[in-house]
Amino acid sequence: MRIAVYPGSFDPITYGHLDVIKRAIGLFDHLVVVVGDNVRKAHALFSVEERVEMIRETTTSWADRVTVEKLEGLLVDKVHATGAQTIIRGLRAATDFDYEFEMVLANRMLDPSFESVFLMPNSQYMYLSSSIVKEVVSLGGDAGPFVPPFVERKLRERLGQRNRKMSNEQ
Ligand code: ADP
Repeated sequence: MRIAVYPGSFDPITYGHLDVIKRAIGLFDHLVVVVGDNVRKAHALFSVEERVEMIRETTTSWADRVTVEKLEGLLVDKVHATGAQTIIRGLRAATDFDYEFEMVLANRMLDPSFESVFLMPNSQYMYLSSSIVKEVVSLGGDAGPFVPPFVERKLRERLGQRNRKMSNEQ
């Protein structure tokens, strides 16, 4: 059984992530989406549990092929625990490249027994990121082209609460 792990922050899941998930399940028998916090990024908008739940809800039609788990500790340990041989990452514009290259080499030094595979999304998602979606929604824009409707609702709720909290504090 060919198993792959797709790690990321997914804060929140977008159609770009979903595009990578669809491509990955075309190549592997089972995909474990693993959700963690990226120490290089600002505090996440949604908790890890909320992000896991949103991905589960978005991938229900492949529930037999896609499972979603939290990441605690090192990714390489998680990969071993799932029995996977491969790490999947998405590759967008050239800006992703240096960081991804660093990560592959670091993971390889920690454990040389598996490979990283990069999948490119459809061109319409090439410049899509969770950060841009949060920016669009916080400015009152339509996130329909970027995230499923229930994720957009959750974003509006959360960003609305945050904006209200900030204006009460002023
Ligand atoms: P991280 O903080 O680990 O980079 P992200 O949720 O930002 O977490 O991204 C997880 C993975 O999904 C990364 O490999 C990233 O390149 C990829 N990804 C994010 N958005 C897209 C997109 N629009 N198209 C393709 N891959 C994407």
